[in-house]
Amino acid sequence: MDNVTQIAGLAGPDVRELRSRIAGDVYVPGDDAWDEARQAWNLAADQRPTAVAVVEGATDVAVVIDFARENGLRVAPQGTGHAASAFSGMHDTILLKTHRMSGVTVDPERRVARAEAGAIWIDVVEAAAEHGLAALSGSSPDVGVVGYTLGGGLSWLARKHGIGANNVTAIELVTADGEFKRVERDHDPDLFWALRGGGGSFAVVTAIEFNLFPYEHVYAGILWFPVERATEILTAWRAWTEIVPDELTSVGRIMQFPPLDFVPEPVRGKSFVIIEAIYAGDPVDGEHWLAPLRELGPVMDTVKTIPMTELSRLHMDPEGPAPGVGDGTMLTAFDDETIAAFVANTVGSPLLSAEVRHLGGAVARPKAEHGALTHFEHEYLTFAVGIAPVPPAAAAVHGALERLFAALEPWQAGHTYSNFAERNRKPGSFHSEAAYHRLKRIKAQVDPENVIRANHEL
Ligand SMILES: Cc1cc2nc3c(=O)[nH]c(=O)nc-3n(C[C@H](O)[C@H](O)[C@H](O)COP(=O)(O)OP(=O)(O)OC[C@H]3O[C@@H](n4cnc5c(N)ncnc54)[C@H](O)[C@@H]3O)c2cc1C
Repeated sequence: MDNVTQIAGLAGPDVRELRSRIAGDVYVPGDDAWDEARQAWNLAADQRPTAVAVVEGATDVAVVIDFARENGLRVAPQGTGHAASAFSGMHDTILLKTHRMSGVTVDPERRVARAEAGAIWIDVVEAAAEHGLAALSGSSPDVGVVGYTLGGGLSWLARKHGIGANNVTAIELVTADGEFKRVERDHDPDLFWALRGGGGSFAVVTAIEFNLFPYEHVYAGILWFPVERATEILTAWRAWTEIVPDELTSVGRIMQFPPLDFVPEPVRGKSFVIIEAIYAGDPVDGEHWLAPLRELGPVMDTVKTIPMTELSRLHMDPEGPAPGVGDGTMLTAFDDETIAAFVANTVGSPLLSAEVRHLGGAVARPKAEHGALTHFEHEYLTFAVGIAPVPPAAAAVHGALERLFAALEPWQAGHTYSNFAERNRKPGSFHSEAAYHRLKRIKAQVDPENVIRANHEL
């Protein structure tokens, strides 16, 4: 049966009716542009929804939600599709793409930015930099602001300023019954709490407002070492993370670059163990803190004072759609045995990158005013990824991830970080028991018919 017949033959609704009701576009299987419309940023995610609605604004969002609810369908909002591979499926679901809602404004007096649902981080970073301000953006320039923030948000300033979601000041949204709302600390506090770290199950967010911080520059960059020194360098890095101040956020990482043209010549086809370090303070102090790592004799050293806009590309994340298979987990420790398991199962594997991010600092300090994700108690978080342009490559990377996470099993924490979980997890994996039960209660109140579908469902 072809896709058009499938739609026409449905006993249920014909989603093409939506075309005349919204300013944006609606695609169904069989349309010429169907494959392009259903594509996510992660090209390895094969999304097969009932239809795709590309919305122009909040009014369109409300119309799509009402249509879905009245016709027994669900709605899955998506900004970029960076986290698309975490979906368990998209049957009976309208994929609601928000990328045309990409406006960003900065209020330099209040030090607050407002980003529409489809805005990506580089748009915010550049707009804020014009006023000498910085956002709690992540490692990638084109990750979506909303998806990142609803899941938590670990930035290069995280140890100093905490989880991104806990710096949100207001959220505009359309509820599962099609109502526009602006939620804040004193207005709909339960929903405001749930959205700050509880994920995308509660409403379709149309815009989000959050604090900015006065940084024009940071002292940051990468120390590169031959991969043969992986155990020694990661051990030294781990010891160093135990003494650094909150101003320092860093990553220990294995990078294995393929011999392909898109990789810059100096690193093409080569493998390294690297340390990415970001010091958010006086560069003289930053230099002092970096000294012990420099004494290890890196083969390349790019750490220097850089503008905030440059920080967005420090991690070398791919911009534009890319095919990747990855996953992450929270570690209870990164001791000598963990390092041995990590190195043995990454170096020489099909993984392009395997990183360990240092948490702690403000990320580990819960406050009463925080949202659903108050803090992370553990100090290290790992994420590994490989390039997966064709099924055999994807299978090889999946195999490598299985081996890595099996080897790390003794140190896997009971809960992990949803934004770094790219494979589907069981409900409750991301929150404390108390937070999870509160999230479930709020979901039942705000979306009793379960219309809104997140990649990680509650
Ligand atoms: C290359 C790369 C680098 C990354 N770096 C970091 C990092 O440094 N720090 C970090 O914390 N994370 C990082 N991540 C993880 C990233 O934060 C998550 O993948 C996040 O979910 C991406 O958000 P998105 O909107 O781009 O993706 P999407 O796949 O579009 O959205 C993810 C989910 O967010 C929810 N959502 C999105 N938009 C809306 C909306 N308008 N209303 C309601 N729910 C919505 C939905 O549930 C959706 O399924 C990175 C991921 C990648 C691939």
